[in-house]
Amino acid sequence: MSEQHGKPWHLETSLVHAGERAAAPRATPIVTPIYTATTYLYPSLAELDAAFADGDSYLYTRYGNPTVAALEAAVAAAEGARGAVAYGSGMAALHAALLAAATPRGETAPRPHAILAARDLYGSSTVLLEELFAARGVRVAYADLCDLQATEAAMAELRPELLLVEQISNPLLRVADIGGLAALCKAGGARLVVDSTITTPVLQRPLALGADLVVHSATKYLSGHGDAAGGVVAARTGMLHASLVRQSRLLGASLGPFEAQQILRGMKTLALRVERQCASAAVVAAFLADHPAVARVYYPGLAAHPAHALAAASFGGRFGGLVSLELRGAAPAVAAFVDRLRLFLPATSLGDLYSLVSVPAIASHRELDAAARVARGISDSLVRLSVGIEALEDLLADLAQALKREVGSQ
Ligand code: PLP
Repeated sequence: MSEQHGKPWHLETSLVHAGERAAAPRATPIVTPIYTATTYLYPSLAELDAAFADGDSYLYTRYGNPTVAALEAAVAAAEGARGAVAYGSGMAALHAALLAAATPRGETAPRPHAILAARDLYGSSTVLLEELFAARGVRVAYADLCDLQATEAAMAELRPELLLVEQISNPLLRVADIGGLAALCKAGGARLVVDSTITTPVLQRPLALGADLVVHSATKYLSGHGDAAGGVVAARTGMLHASLVRQSRLLGASLGPFEAQQILRGMKTLALRVERQCASAAVVAAFLADHPAVARVYYPGLAAHPAHALAAASFGGRFGGLVSLELRGAAPAVAAFVDRLRLFLPATSLGDLYSLVSVPAIASHRELDAAARVARGISDSLVRLSVGIEALEDLLADLAQALKREVGSQ
């Protein structure tokens, strides 16, 4: 297309239009291209109208984008979901999941009255519940959702529309019995929303156990390379998926195509990375548990962990890639330990192929006040390690040198 009505275009027109809108190649690209187009053409107004009417055709990127759809299909397949919707961050995904799960069956408008959440949640998830739900009149209560009896009692009192839990919690690595919680939700007419950011579908697929929605911060293990932020919600039923899709068009917190491609690419090695991270984390946890400078290690793979048996039965012999610990000594010792580490990067994230270290009191749980942190068992001396895919020997040597000098200085 370089002319109109037999007349060649002027340079300005040609610069804008020439080369664009060729027919798609007959051969299929081996990976999904990054579709940057924000809007789509149809041959006639009647066909555009039909595309609007069918609800499935590409029209405008907030309504759907082929690169983002490829990621959504990959997550839905990984989670055994009827469908998935991707968002600009894990927090956007969590917000959307809570709105969708709180929509009473048979209605379309979100109308949450009561949410029962785990006391052990990523700090910003708790703040989201407080500032976007409790502050608007939703009754939000917290309980130990790792304790089924306590959960049942809290449900009887609150009668929540939904429960929110992290399968392995951030940062104390507590383990929830998803099948048990799903049974309670079924009996109590509530929906179960599971944040699977830390477990990933490699360890467990909560929808198969009866959960309704699975949330991921795709910024973490799914992407895995520390270079893309995103979130995804996977739905067990077509109805919940449809409600997420409708909401997403209104919330507009959609994921961009560049990030979608990076996360999709990251997911191809998810199983390999997670297997390696879990294997290394198990050795790191055992090493720390034996070290005189370490007061306590939190890791579901250790026999001393209160939910070790549940984790062993649930996660196919893997226990996750995070290890939390408390050092002997107070805050200055923690700072010295973190500052001495060379391979564990002191950056606030988890799940990357780089090993990371963070202090929840000043990072992931900073937004909670000190009393709320203490109530959740998060001390100022708690350190969270996210084990990467580096050589295990190098990781152990890094920890040993950082801890050794600590012992010497005590
Ligand atoms: N859920 C968990 C368990 C997290 O650890 C995080 C972030 O650390 C989030 C959700 C939020 O994800 P994002 O930072 O991608 O918004």
